[in-house]
Amino acid sequence: MDLFEYQARDLFEKHGVPVLRAKVAETPEEAKQAAEELGGGTVVVKAQVKVGGRGKAGGVKLAKSPDEAAEKAKEILGLDIKGHETKKVMIAEGADIAEEYYFSVLLDRSERTYLAMCSKEGGMEIEQLAVERPEALARVPVNALTGIDEAKAREIVEAAGFDDQVGPKIVPVLQKLWDVFKEEDATLVEVNPLVKTGAGDIVALDGKVSLDDNADFRHKDHEELRDISAEDPLELKAKKLGLNYVKLDGQVGIIGNGAGLVMSTLDVVAYAGEKHDGVKPANFLDIGGGASAEVMANGLDVILGDDQVKSVFVNVFGGITACDAVANGIVKALEILGDSATKPLVVRLDGNKVEEGRQILKDANNPLVTLTDTMDAGADKAAELAAAN
Ligand code: GDP
Ligand code: MN
Repeated sequence: MDLFEYQARDLFEKHGVPVLRAKVAETPEEAKQAAEELGGGTVVVKAQVKVGGRGKAGGVKLAKSPDEAAEKAKEILGLDIKGHETKKVMIAEGADIAEEYYFSVLLDRSERTYLAMCSKEGGMEIEQLAVERPEALARVPVNALTGIDEAKAREIVEAAGFDDQVGPKIVPVLQKLWDVFKEEDATLVEVNPLVKTGAGDIVALDGKVSLDDNADFRHKDHEELRDISAEDPLELKAKKLGLNYVKLDGQVGIIGNGAGLVMSTLDVVAYAGEKHDGVKPANFLDIGGGASAEVMANGLDVILGDDQVKSVFVNVFGGITACDAVANGIVKALEILGDSATKPLVVRLDGNKVEEGRQILKDANNPLVTLTDTMDAGADKAAELAAAN
């Protein structure tokens, strides 16, 4: 989950990273009031959208008084920034910027480690700096166990070429940013710009944080950070039902057990779809090992709620939960769903108690259900049905 800047700022503050005071506003009046509460002096009005380059797009503006803050908020609210509509602004104390730096720490999947990046040349888009002047961007691997301790922070600061004046001031800030990264289970913490003020203080002026959703169970408080309005309604529904579901863009709904089997089902359906009008898988849904009738019903319910879906392929390998239980689950699920189940279902069962499972589906004789013997045949049938509907 990517956070808004104001949410990142709050997490920074929680872990002792120096930030400026700020408030969130959704109307020009709220912006004016926020500017007053911040002392009535110069503030910065910043669009809260989950995309970079807001400055260049007109989403970051200085205001010298509360009235001006209201004016700037009026200009920025509703602004479309790279396809993101601005619904909130952050009103932050104005900073007296002497220098702008860059710092980030992220999960480097290809190197299987964490990576810190730091530069004396912040402010601009870092992708551009990395391409044009890679030598100006220090890259320092960070060991997961030792993290960014004082020694590692010094190493990063030296690699970026900071002098003896500024370097020692940045070191403790990097350690605290590591605390944010580690303790909040982030996959990215980026500060651009990290600034030195006229008074010589180091302040994180802009923050970008991505949290690892896999660690949500450790952070009940992260639930509040979720921007429900921006989430896919089907994914939201699936999440509430505890389903492992990802919405995709195709027409063939997919249900399987085990992430590996579901992934290969997506491939097989995409391949089969090439012969049937180019239909594609509509989703990833892993109902797990011990899938009950209720889980099957919930899964079908979510998938059938997707208007794009024209057929569904249920591909289950019976293991601990044998095929007869899965077949009973499908039959009961169709009973539970009743008239809301309207799309053809192709079912391929294999594994433990496969004969019993098939017999149960044959006996139920539901006109929506087609049984196939193999995964390839099932994928082909489901793609054919999707193309025909
Ligand atoms: P981004 O463009 O989305 O990355 O937004 P930033 O928050 O990084 O702001 C862009 C630029 O606006 C920064 O690099 C600063 O130069 C400037 N800026 C942001 N906040 C302040 C502030 O409080 N005072 C001043 N003078 N400039 C600011
Ligand atoms: Mn920035």
